[in-house]
Amino acid sequence: MGVHRALAHILVSKLLRRRARGFYEKVYRDYSFTPEVQRNSDFARRHRGRKIVSGPRGSCYDLARIFTRLNRRYFDGQLDQPTLTWSQRRTRTTLGHHDGVHDTIVISKTLDSSDVPEWFVEYILYHEMLHIKHPARLINGRRYYHTKDFRAEEQRFPFYEEAQQWLERIARPRRTPRTRAA
Ligand SMILES: [Zn+2]
Repeated sequence: MGVHRALAHILVSKLLRRRARGFYEKVYRDYSFTPEVQRNSDFARRHRGRKIVSGPRGSCYDLARIFTRLNRRYFDGQLDQPTLTWSQRRTRTTLGHHDGVHDTIVISKTLDSSDVPEWFVEYILYHEMLHIKHPARLINGRRYYHTKDFRAEEQRFPFYEEAQQWLERIARPRRTPRTRAA
């Protein structure tokens, strides 16, 4: 049993809020309690910076708080809270993602910034929450995620128009200025 595999298993389990099985934990414990490894991990911890696994709480915005607010305001508090997390890396093309299999919403770390207005973070999270409410529809073997109902409800967001402008500003690379076609 490789230590890295055991460690990966524990991290993934934590991420999925499941307990790592005792066997994996023992393998990792046996390994991590040797003095040499303890020394190395202290060293690594000091040099790795603040956090390895991100959660809902960013340095600027707390996704769990925003989720609760949006849930109350637009979903009558009916949505179950999925696992909410900031992405590990900054990504400009994908600002949000809903993973139905793992019941997880990932929001790009790019948005965890005081340069980004809170209503825009709300909009991105609201969009992903709509994916929970409106599951993909299978039509002729194709999966449709943004159905008519989905789009209609999305446009009820008060800052919808402003959000579209921000989407272009953030997601579009700056070096290719383009005039918009009609
Ligand atoms: Zn979507």
